[in-house]
Amino acid sequence: MDRRSSITVIVRSVLAAGPLRRADLEARTGLSQPTIAKLTRALIDAGYLTETTAGGGPGRIGRPAATLDVHADREFFAGVKVTPGELIGVVTDLRAVVRVTAHAPLGDARTPPDVVRAIARLVTELRGGAARPVRGLGVSVAGDVDRTTGLARYEPFLGWHDVPLAALCTAETGLPTVADNDIRALTEAENWFGAGADARSFLLVAVGSGVTSGLAVDGRVLTGAHGVAGELGHVPVDRRGPKCYCGARGCLEAIASEPALLRRVAEITGIPAITLGRAIELARLGDPRVGEAFAEAGRAIGQAVGGVINLLGPELVVFSADHLDGFALLDPHIRAAIDTHAFGAAARATVEVRPLPFAQWARGAATVAIARHLTSVTV
Ligand SMILES: [Zn+2]
Repeated sequence: MDRRSSITVIVRSVLAAGPLRRADLEARTGLSQPTIAKLTRALIDAGYLTETTAGGGPGRIGRPAATLDVHADREFFAGVKVTPGELIGVVTDLRAVVRVTAHAPLGDARTPPDVVRAIARLVTELRGGAARPVRGLGVSVAGDVDRTTGLARYEPFLGWHDVPLAALCTAETGLPTVADNDIRALTEAENWFGAGADARSFLLVAVGSGVTSGLAVDGRVLTGAHGVAGELGHVPVDRRGPKCYCGARGCLEAIASEPALLRRVAEITGIPAITLGRAIELARLGDPRVGEAFAEAGRAIGQAVGGVINLLGPELVVFSADHLDGFALLDPHIRAAIDTHAFGAAARATVEVRPLPFAQWARGAATVAIARHLTSVTV
């Protein structure tokens, strides 16, 4: 491994699992003792790592082993999640702990130059509130994004095709920018700082205005050979089902996303433009037709997730929902369908539900910027 890769591996290990002793680092990274000694010294001198020597108690023999931790305040990173309605932004420290949060309505802004200008204004505001210099920016959008080149190839909600998003943001903000798909960025944050600490392979499923997923296998977030992976929303679950905006029929998203579910409830009840809150209320009041609409959406999600569990055998499946009240109505049907479809020992995957505050999406974008930055650290 070259020096730069070794540095990235060391910082990443301490970020994920610190504080660590040098001996722990040897075991985790497979790097030699002299390499660890030399590079950790350089990283301490450069302010990336701090060293603490715990006081040896009475009866302790020899020198207590020093532990290394990341100096989280060394520099900060900005993350912005673009939604059709608004921008959500955060500044995080090097450990992806959110230090500043701000959001800005997008109004009518839809074109890439307008949205990028709004991103730049939000980033200026975020930097103004940050106690440390901001070193990089991560921007996440829905759809097909090539993280390597920063090209947003297709963003379905804004109708973007082939927008050089990272380059445009760098030009407007002056910050090195990484653009990524939103759920992949969120999965990256979970992989570094969340679920990944408990499980080497996990599936993250976000349920809300869309249904989408991120996959981490053996500690790596899958990006797909062509930059697309984890598009759970476009897994077919009913070939006679409704038409999806992607052009195919019976995609999970056309059945179980919030807009799809509300369309179904509006059809059943005859209440046009029914809100999620009202639909939940009707289901809770015992309207069997509305309850069945939630059940159908839940079964479709569980069927698709059961299929992914069979293919990948993850240790952990984490559901994140925009609206936990609505998710509670889907949850038993999702779990029942997973139980039906998951095969053999794959069914042992642990299923968890977590709230998904919007700031988490922006934190995911910041994590991608941190990850990119760490590949360029030279000491
Ligand atoms: Zn589709």
